[in-house]
Amino acid sequence: MKHQGSCHCGRIAFEVEGDINEAMDCNCSLCRRRGGLLWFAPREALVLKTPGENLSTYTFNHHHIQHRFCANCGIGVFGEAVHPKTGVPTVAVNVRCLPDVDLAALKVTRFDGASL
Ligand SMILES: [Zn+2]
Repeated sequence: MKHQGSCHCGRIAFEVEGDINEAMDCNCSLCRRRGGLLWFAPREALVLKTPGENLSTYTFNHHHIQHRFCANCGIGVFGEAVHPKTGVPTVAVNVRCLPDVDLAALKVTRFDGASL
């Protein structure tokens, strides 16, 4: 199934394909402030619908994950990184940016990112 996603102002829009039944709630220093819910997919499952230069990027800690956000409205839409175990380019989509996903129906798993 394809899901349409965007930041709040629309400068970043994307489409991601996959069955989204679960999400991860991480308590790391970034996630606890941003308040996203993450769903993971191969990077190739995501197609950007707006120019790549509309993505702003934040990195911290090991600077391994590219946290993409909109510099206009401030919404963090997804993060990109090479999966440390599989070597596969991976995207962590903030499912709160996918209006067609029923957030209340997701199985949410807590992840202790603060301890990494
Ligand atoms: Zn925006």
